[in-house]
Amino acid sequence: MDFEYTEEEQAFRQEVRDFLDENLTAANRRDANFMANWLKKVREKRWVGFSWPKEVGGGGGNIMQQVILKEEMASRKAPPLGTCMMGLAWVGPAIIQYGTEEQKQRFIPDILDSKYHWCTGYSEPNVGSDLASLQCKAVREGDFYIVNGTKIWTSLAPFASWISLLVRTSSNPESKHEGITALLVKMDSPGIEVRPIEIMAGGAVFAQVFFDEVKVPVDNRLGEEGNGWKVTISSLANERSSIGEVTAMYEKLERLKELVRKSRKNGKPARDDVGIRRQIAVFEARIEAMRLNGFRYLTKQIKGEPLSSETSVNKLHRANLEVEMTDFAVELLGQSGLQLRDQEGAVDGGSWATAALSWPDVAICGGTPNIQKNIIAERILGLPKD
Ligand SMILES: Cc1cc2nc3c(=O)[nH]c(=O)nc-3n(C[C@H](O)[C@H](O)[C@H](O)COP(=O)(O)OP(=O)(O)OC[C@H]3O[C@@H](n4cnc5c(N)ncnc54)[C@H](O)[C@@H]3O)c2cc1C
Repeated sequence: MDFEYTEEEQAFRQEVRDFLDENLTAANRRDANFMANWLKKVREKRWVGFSWPKEVGGGGGNIMQQVILKEEMASRKAPPLGTCMMGLAWVGPAIIQYGTEEQKQRFIPDILDSKYHWCTGYSEPNVGSDLASLQCKAVREGDFYIVNGTKIWTSLAPFASWISLLVRTSSNPESKHEGITALLVKMDSPGIEVRPIEIMAGGAVFAQVFFDEVKVPVDNRLGEEGNGWKVTISSLANERSSIGEVTAMYEKLERLKELVRKSRKNGKPARDDVGIRRQIAVFEARIEAMRLNGFRYLTKQIKGEPLSSETSVNKLHRANLEVEMTDFAVELLGQSGLQLRDQEGAVDGGSWATAALSWPDVAICGGTPNIQKNIIAERILGLPKD
């Protein structure tokens, strides 16, 4: 592949850098209105929903521009481009692809303007990896669906205004993927109860959500009835090379090296320890392998070829690396590695201990390591089915 950037791409990178130089200064960051100003400015640049078509208010950014934008933002630890995370990640793309005109006009501008949060109601107490077995039920009565059931591990549910919900509208013993329907449901609908779940790193960003005879207008169905499976795996021309994540991993490695520089092991500077030096080199080599693998995906996407199972390789690789790098830091810190946030003796604001307790974020969310291994084994290596 060609590793050089075109003149247009270099010009775009410079544009992003200039923008960051101007808007991401230490003084700006201290301003009380920093986040509001940031969101307004990135929206004006059309960098919120950058991959979305211009007709719906997105940026129409091509694959390479998306990579450059993500890389530059990650390398400067910039705040997110819009705070409606799930709206930007998958609810918006699904609405653009499957929504009615009315749904697009109603929801897309609000997602781009970070007006409120969306949450995602897929997992259930007995349904996670095997999502197609979901049981939360919706029965049609006239112009409404009546929803009964429960969802769990619903990130952001305590703060979200809307939920993108998968329900079962019919059962087909031949195919459990059929009969699933996607609904867009207002979180303050009568009959919805949100019970927050506290996580081990502190805070309650998750919840279990209960639905008791909740009335959802048929107009809020996304796509055809029974077609919810297809709706959930919709994707626009989203850059999926993971090169933005690689930049963040390199940034984490720099913090790890900094930690080594200021730590001691067995009474001597940790940086002189052969084992520690070797481990840092191994992390670096593995991140570089992930970057080069990401370029493979990128090449495919630039050629207009669809990406599917292969992205599981970097997802699995990243989950393992993140966990191992964090564990390495905590071990290096010894006793103080156990201190969280504001606790006495916490190093780097307790961020290593917090990250160590947050491992499910990278490991489980979006598909567990075992599931990624199954995908790689069956769909890439052609091994017999699980
Ligand atoms: C940080 C975080 C955020 C999340 N946010 C959301 C959200 O917003 N909305 C939402 O709906 N859900 C969310 N989830 C839930 C997440 O999608 C599920 O936890 C995940 O799909 C796994 O399902 P499960 O927890 O039921 O585990 P299970 O599927 O029961 O898996 C349990 C164990 O069995 C293994 N296993 C399962 N099937 C197989 C198999 N076929 N072969 C080999 N091993 C297998 C798994 O790898 C795992 O180790 C979130 C989870 C996390 C950690």
